[in-house]
Amino acid sequence: MGLLDRVLVNGTVPMFINGEFVLAADGATFESREPANGKTCATVAEGGPEDVERAVAAARNAFETTWRDTLAVNRARLLLRIGQLVDENKEELAQLESRDNGKSIRETRAEVDSIARFYEFYAGVAQNLTGQTLPPTGAHFNYTLREPVGVVGAIIPWNSPLMMITWKVCPALAGGNTIVIKPAEDTPVTATVFASILAEAGVPNGVVNFVQGFGGRAGSALVDHPDVDKIAFTGSTDTGKLIAEKAARGLKLVTFELGGKSPSIIFPDANIDNAVRRIAYGIFSAGGQSCIAASRVLVHADIKEEFLEKFAAKANQIRVGNPLDDTNHVGSQTSERQLDKIKSYVEIAEKEGALVAAGGSRPTGMADELGGYFFSPTILANVKNSMRVAQEEIFGPVTAVIDFTDEDDAVRIANDTVFGLAASVWTENIRVGHRVAGRINAGTVWINNHRSMNWVTPFGGYKQSGYGRENGVHVMDHYTQNKSVWVDLADDAVDWFG
Ligand code: NAP
Ligand code: MG
Repeated sequence: MGLLDRVLVNGTVPMFINGEFVLAADGATFESREPANGKTCATVAEGGPEDVERAVAAARNAFETTWRDTLAVNRARLLLRIGQLVDENKEELAQLESRDNGKSIRETRAEVDSIARFYEFYAGVAQNLTGQTLPPTGAHFNYTLREPVGVVGAIIPWNSPLMMITWKVCPALAGGNTIVIKPAEDTPVTATVFASILAEAGVPNGVVNFVQGFGGRAGSALVDHPDVDKIAFTGSTDTGKLIAEKAARGLKLVTFELGGKSPSIIFPDANIDNAVRRIAYGIFSAGGQSCIAASRVLVHADIKEEFLEKFAAKANQIRVGNPLDDTNHVGSQTSERQLDKIKSYVEIAEKEGALVAAGGSRPTGMADELGGYFFSPTILANVKNSMRVAQEEIFGPVTAVIDFTDEDDAVRIANDTVFGLAASVWTENIRVGHRVAGRINAGTVWINNHRSMNWVTPFGGYKQSGYGRENGVHVMDHYTQNKSVWVDLADDAVDWFG
């Protein structure tokens, strides 16, 4: 039996609460579409406040009764086991993710492979979470304990569902927390399938729970729930601001990974062929539905013509089509809403005076016949940084090429944005590369690369791209808290009132 068939309840993709696959308390469901053909592919349980209540209660109970006291070595063993099961089910997970989200199978295979490495890494992290002993300041001994924060509420987007689940589940479990996850309504399927892997690995009931449903109902109930200690949110900056306000009312701990408008700065001495290849990957992989997408390309005026010509040729070479056909580079956008948004931004750009140097519309031929949400890799030239297409996140395969005159000009344009998620610098000059990396206001800067990520390197945004960091050992600062313990060593304590 396939992974999906294993979890269906009355033909419906259920939720996962307290170790059981369950339908919504009120029986509500919603339809999920397969982006590559626009057809309904699954009926999904639509969770509401009552289901959030059940899930948070399960998570609280699991936290208090077992999980917080489960030895790190045993938490680590579970994390390793999850990683092994991801490896064993790699191809099926990748296929389900491609069907659910529209991303090409080449990409989802690579993602699933990397997901297994995250679980292995956090098995190590779990066993290396230590407090500190502090230098004496008198007749006492001070030390700190790293303790879990409790019940985590996680809300994730649709662009990389399994990866986003992993970025929350790994630190939650490594730190001894329990978690309730609300997947995005556009990509519900692989979350529930993943729950079956967690169950098979032996994750105790209630430690990880999934409530499917809509942001305004299930998501909102999770944020408002008084028994949720921390909210981990990945999504748009607007929703992030709304959640920050609500979480503040309950003084909940929060981490936010939000939008971006990441610049790639190409200096005249750069290896242009390398920049073309890698920036094309930076913007067009995942159909541009990537928070770190290379959506602003700043190119020195002297090399603009050469770069644009080669960049357009590269964009035109990209094969867009059926995500399950591994000869295609890129699949479809995830939703019709997203496709419409992309189209409207190309129109806005043209009205503002930009020129379409590649793409600009839905691809013709095979991909279009599928009837899915496909869009061609698109390059907009003649863009000024003040235009809407250079300031607002499109979240599609559309990049804006802007020219600059010198390093100061490049840095000024790069930093002239409300976002600060990532940037890349392209040069063969080691001094320029490191100097500019230091001058960009962003949480990640690549030199001669764009979009590489892994489990060991912290990731997160400056400015309106969020706060807190995920990945690496750094994320554990947000999934644990320090307790200070004082031990008095004086035989004869001073009597202040004697
Ligand atoms: P979104 O609308 O903010 O949705 C993200 C999640 O929040 C979804 O699960 C959504 O539910 C839920 N949600 C919506 N309104 C809510 C509310 N009032 N209360 C609680 N939850 C609510 O974002 P999106 O447009 O789907 O996703 C794309 C965005 O994510 C982009 O801006 C992108 O840059 C960002 N992103 C950031 C990172 C990063 O690490 N920095 C990574 C990936 C994506 P529904 O499913 O019902 O909409
Ligand atoms: Mg949404």
